[in-house]
Amino acid sequence: MEKTLFQKIADKEIPSDMVYEDEMCVAFRDISPSAPVHILLVPRKPLRDITCATAEDAALLSHLMLKVGDIARAVGIAESGFRTVLNTGEDGGQTVPHLHIHIIGGRSMQWPPG
Ligand code: 5GP
Repeated sequence: MEKTLFQKIADKEIPSDMVYEDEMCVAFRDISPSAPVHILLVPRKPLRDITCATAEDAALLSHLMLKVGDIARAVGIAESGFRTVLNTGEDGGQTVPHLHIHIIGGRSMQWPPG
């Protein structure tokens, strides 16, 4: 099966500004950041979106959630705060069909978003 864009980035076939990687996931800077800090945290497993995750993925999802704080600390936004976003499907604004968590910070954000 054709690799997703984010698999190609995880496998370093497409360059990125990677800030973290391990055996289960990678994190790299968004090419079109919506804030001074904008990281994408991506599992190596190409789940299309969160609706495709099953009980088999429980350890992976837990790993990703734990990495959010580590990555926020590493890029210097843990203290000031940040937003995590998980877009799903067309109405959710998902443009890359490979599960990913946005970690966005470095400026104050409003809620609800526009
Ligand atoms: P989505 O809209 O699917 O939630 O988020 C996809 C994100 O991937 C967007 O914020 C977009 O800027 C980012 N993106 C798309 N293509 C690339 C790329 O080639 N490299 C990087 N680093 N980010 C990308």
